[in-house]
Amino acid sequence: MSKKPIICEVCQKVINDPDDLITASTLFSVKPYHEYCYGHDVRGTKSIILANHPLNGTSGTVSYLLIFLLTLLLFIYTESFIKYIVLAFLMLETGFRIYAYIVYIRKFNKAT
Ligand SMILES: [Zn+2]
Repeated sequence: MSKKPIICEVCQKVINDPDDLITASTLFSVKPYHEYCYGHDVRGTKSIILANHPLNGTSGTVSYLLIFLLTLLLFIYTESFIKYIVLAFLMLETGFRIYAYIVYIRKFNKAT
């Protein structure tokens, strides 16, 4: 029913191929991009971990694993409140990925 196309944030064209889809979080929202558009337009502008990074694909998985490990280590080795900040960050990252999956990635899985 809701066959709304996924529109790339950079070039405003429809993304047809799931392999071409990059979902990235920009502060508190998740945006879809073509792999090409993301690589050429988005990534260069910001590089800090919070600002903009891909949620899916290899680099998305790696960055998520790093955050997960960091949270785990902080919980094991420190009593500081910092671990709660990192935990909140991990939950935010998890939420972004669930959101990206439901809103964008799932559409491709259903289409085939
Ligand atoms: Zn594009």
